[in-house]
Amino acid sequence: MSVEVRIVSIEAIILDLPTIRPHTLSMVTMSRQSMTIVRVRCSDGIEGLGEGTTIGGLAYGPESPEGMKLTIDEYITPLLLGRDATRVQAAMDRVRKAVKGNHFAKCAIESALLDCQARRLGVPMSELLGGRRRDSLPIAWTLASGETAKDIDEAQALLDRRRHKDFKLKIGVKSIEEDIRHVAAIRKALPDIASIRVDVNMAWREREARNAIAALADAGCVLVEQPVSGITPLARLTRTSSIAIMADEVLVGPESALEAAMAHAADVFSIKIEQAGGLFAAAKVIAIAETAGISVYGGTMLEGPIGTIAAAQLMAGVKDLQWGTEFFGPLLLTEEILQEPLLFKDFELTLPQGPGLGIALNDDAVNRFRRDGKSATGLRVVG
Ligand SMILES: [Mg+2]
Repeated sequence: MSVEVRIVSIEAIILDLPTIRPHTLSMVTMSRQSMTIVRVRCSDGIEGLGEGTTIGGLAYGPESPEGMKLTIDEYITPLLLGRDATRVQAAMDRVRKAVKGNHFAKCAIESALLDCQARRLGVPMSELLGGRRRDSLPIAWTLASGETAKDIDEAQALLDRRRHKDFKLKIGVKSIEEDIRHVAAIRKALPDIASIRVDVNMAWREREARNAIAALADAGCVLVEQPVSGITPLARLTRTSSIAIMADEVLVGPESALEAAMAHAADVFSIKIEQAGGLFAAAKVIAIAETAGISVYGGTMLEGPIGTIAAAQLMAGVKDLQWGTEFFGPLLLTEEILQEPLLFKDFELTLPQGPGLGIALNDDAVNRFRRDGKSATGLRVVG
C-alpha cells in the first residue's frame, strides 16, 4: 500500500522571549526563556507544532535550545522526511532507534507529529493520549523572586485575581535556616486557601534534608520536591517524612519511573513530557505511578504555550490530580506568541477544544523573537 500522507518538512526555530521577572532556582537565575519551536508540515497540507524548552541553557539538564535544534536539523529530520505522517508511533520508533537520549528534542518532534495527526482526525490531542477526563487543570505558581516580601506581595496579588492558590517556593540557594524562615513567613502571611510547597532541586544532602523537611512540615509546608538527588536517598526521606515528597529530576523516562516506583522513592511523581522523552513516554510514567499508588503532578520546564498545552492535553486524561499542575510557563513570558492567548482563570488553565493542540502561532511574534532574525520576507529584523 502506498503511503498517502507524508512528512514534507520539519523546521526548528529558536525563540528568545523576555520573562516578567528574574526567576531564581538553586542552579541558575533566568531573565529570559529560549525555546526551540518545531513546525512539521505534511503532504495533505496539515501542520503541527512542538516545543523543546529547558531551564537556563545547560544549567538544568543536558539539552540546550541550540543542541535541540542541531539534533532535529541534522539527525531527526533526515530520518522522518518522506515517511508516513499518520503513523506517529512508528515514526518515533525510527527516531529512537537512531538517536539516543535527546529527550527534549524527541518530545518536540513527537508533539508536532501528534498535533498533525489529531488535526487530521479532527480531535483534540488528548483523544490520542487516552482520552480527556477534564477541560481545565489546576495551576500552581512558583514564587522565585528570591525575596520574601516580594514573594508575599506577588502571591497575594495572584490570590486576589483568583489566578493561583497553590504556591511553590524555589529554595536551596540560601542556608537552610534562611529558607525555613522564608517559607514560614510566606505561609503565615497568606490565607488558608493557599497551599505552600517547596522545590529544592536536589540542593541538600540527605541528613540536612531530613531535619529541614521536619522543620518545613512545622512551618505549614505540605510538599517537598526533590530535596536530594538519587532514588535511594529520596526513598529513605519519603519513608520518614510526615509531608509529601515529590520526585522530579530522578524521573527521566519510564525505566527510571519504574525503578523509583519499586523503591517507593516518592509520594508524588512530577510528570514532565520533555524529561520523560515525549508524550507517550510520559503516559507510561503516569501509568507506572498510578499502578504503584503514587500520585501524579503536572511538572513544567517553564515551557511556552506550545509545550504547556501539549502537556495539558496529556494531563487532561489523568484520573487523580490532587496536586494539580504547574503549567504556568506561558505566564512568565512578557510576549504572546499565539493568535489567541491561553485562558487562565479561577485558578485553572482551560484546555482548547479544537483539533490537535488547539492553538495557532502568531507568525509576526515568531518572526520578531526568532534568534536567527529571519522574518517571513527573509529580511533580518533589527533591534
Ligand atoms: Mg522541580
